[in-house]
Amino acid sequence: MLDLVITGGTVVDGSGAPMRAADVGVRDGRIAIIAPTGTVDEPSGATLDADGRYVTPGFVDLHTHYDAQLFWDPLATPSPFHGVTTVIGGNCGFSLAPLTPDHADYLMRMMARVEGMPLDALAAGLAWDWGGFGEWLDRLDGTTAVNAGFLCGHSALRRVAGADREVMQRLLHEALDAGALGFSTSQAHTHNDADGEPVPSRFADDDELLALAACVAEHEGTTLEAIVAGCINGFTDDEIELLAGMSRAARRPLNWNVLGVSALNPTGHERQLAASDAAAAQGGNGSADEPDAHGPAGGALAQVALRRVHGPLLLLRSEKRPAQADR
Ligand SMILES: [Zn+2]
Repeated sequence: MLDLVITGGTVVDGSGAPMRAADVGVRDGRIAIIAPTGTVDEPSGATLDADGRYVTPGFVDLHTHYDAQLFWDPLATPSPFHGVTTVIGGNCGFSLAPLTPDHADYLMRMMARVEGMPLDALAAGLAWDWGGFGEWLDRLDGTTAVNAGFLCGHSALRRVAGADREVMQRLLHEALDAGALGFSTSQAHTHNDADGEPVPSRFADDDELLALAACVAEHEGTTLEAIVAGCINGFTDDEIELLAGMSRAARRPLNWNVLGVSALNPTGHERQLAASDAAAAQGGNGSADEPDAHGPAGGALAQVALRRVHGPLLLLRSEKRPAQADR
């Protein structure tokens, strides 16, 4: 007996296999059958007609700022309408934890400015009384309709730590121990706080960024996200060196945002992707020679903005792994 059968859809299973007409049977909350349309004859508690639709695994949106919204909108609307079932927050250095009472107002107003969130909603929707990253995660535990994970943001770390590097490192380790997915930062001139001043992460020097990235290397399954001015304008050599250096220090891939392809600058994206080659070349050497028990070596990943695909705007990730760069 199946719980559910999804009939008449076109299955795109995410494996790279060609799309195909198939029915999908679910038993005990798991996919039990994928079979040609009309061939599932096991009884089912429910049937969903997917005629004219794609049936796919849920999309992972790795760059969101749902950190606050999830407190009053567990569905992360409208992402699920576009097929997204997993959202990653805390990007661009803008996590809501760690937090201390004297910095809650600053972080709230910064979020309102940098992500265009209504200040009234932020003030009414959250208690702003948590402390460490783990305590903040606990507030969302079991409350969201989507899967959600969060990076620990540089601006929150720097504000709470008073720019003390050792304190930042300690707080980041605590966050990663408590379940943060990694470390994020912004060095982009477009990111300013409520007073129009640079957000805290923009005051960091390269040594600080590398030191914080290195913390991530000690926590299995973690990652990096970073924004620099060149993500939009075209990378400078220094920026490529910095992003590759962070990836190397963390022994993790780094996700930068966002790769645009424009008819006004038809070859601009090629230099952007060359940053991935530089990171892959540096990270790849270490990986091949000395396997790392903590996870894969580094490499820069670009987040790619696609055009509209049947309505929703999808954000996907492209990557160049060392093996590809070596070909
Ligand atoms: Zn962002």
